[in-house]
Amino acid sequence: MTDFARTRAAFDLPEGVIYLDGNSLGPLPRGVMQRAERVIREEWGGMLIRGWNDAGWMALSTRVGDRIARLVGAEAGSVICGDTLSIRTFQALNAALALNPDRRVILSDTGNFPSDLYIADGLARLKGEGYALRTAPPGAIGDALDETVAVLMLTEVDYRTGRLHDMRDLTERAHALGIVTVWDLAHSAGAVPVDLSGCGADFAVGCTYKYLNGGPGAPAFLYVAPRHQGVSFPTIQGWLGHAEPFAFEQGYRPAAGIARMRIGTPPVIQLAILDAALDVWEGVSMDDIRARSIGLSERFIAGVEALDAGLELVSPRDPMGRGSQVSFSHPDGYAIMQTLIADGVIGDFRAPDRIRFGFAPLYLDDRDIDTAVARLGRIMAGERWRDARFSARKAVT
Ligand SMILES: *Cc1c(COP(=O)(O)O)cnc(C)c1O
Repeated sequence: MTDFARTRAAFDLPEGVIYLDGNSLGPLPRGVMQRAERVIREEWGGMLIRGWNDAGWMALSTRVGDRIARLVGAEAGSVICGDTLSIRTFQALNAALALNPDRRVILSDTGNFPSDLYIADGLARLKGEGYALRTAPPGAIGDALDETVAVLMLTEVDYRTGRLHDMRDLTERAHALGIVTVWDLAHSAGAVPVDLSGCGADFAVGCTYKYLNGGPGAPAFLYVAPRHQGVSFPTIQGWLGHAEPFAFEQGYRPAAGIARMRIGTPPVIQLAILDAALDVWEGVSMDDIRARSIGLSERFIAGVEALDAGLELVSPRDPMGRGSQVSFSHPDGYAIMQTLIADGVIGDFRAPDRIRFGFAPLYLDDRDIDTAVARLGRIMAGERWRDARFSARKAVT
């Protein structure tokens, strides 16, 4: 059994704040400060360049990758960490397309995160020769699979609504038609149980600053199924993906295994911080996370609907069809969220009219949910959100 009292105590949340935005930026785990201090002062400050060997900096990308692998059902040695999700998506997509050279279509859904769609569209343009991104509504993806599709690229949990794709079923159906899959786990890793290996997924990517609490701008991860590692290329052929970076050869020779997906110098400080943040996950079962996440989100939905305040649920009502986040729509959603944040309940807003709440079982409990609902109820009843200062749009919503 996961000890949620321990995990809750492992976070340093500001007094009075109820944090329902861990799906966008996870909060600070207590152990991170010490580790950051150590890596900066003792390793960088004290060891200087010797840190690459003496502090194991060079091994961090794969070491941290292996720790993430455990959380997403991936085989050891199949996950690399570093660079951003957008870059990792580009790498995964191009490697996937290369496995299906006679086809030209990347299929995704219209609800996918813009960066994923932009990257796919940009890659198709770069490749030319009839390559194209095709999209279908999330509910119609199964029907859109056919033998013209080279790669199916989906984000498992929809960032706006929390709608959850059936990874096992869609991967199976894609494979039956000779389609290679790329799964984006941005809102899955640390939120829902994922079984990349068991589903037979080909490639996957994800970020670590959301439910994995790696901090703003934390490095992303890339999964390549073991069966594809020997024939997949990194696209961006950096020196650290070379078989022998310190031979400084003129020509490129890819490293064996997942290491060839490395590009350049790893972000050591961010990787060390992420490594410390992952300590919280030791002894945590993803099934326990899922059960608790459903309990919290069901409680929140019931509470908000009982307010009868004109907030429409836009997430799937069936908890099995959702990830770990819930959204409601309201024409004045932006101002309502700003008022709620001013009252210490932090969620976020996604255009055009959605207020979004993430439920991270590591540090949230039923009392938090009840307090959040009560504060929201007060705001809706008093219409305080009509105050003009809550409607001024900020750069990040
Ligand atoms: C958060 C998120 C991103 C962000 O990509 P970055 O390169 O880290 O900025 C991309 N795709 C999805 C699906 C996301 O949820």
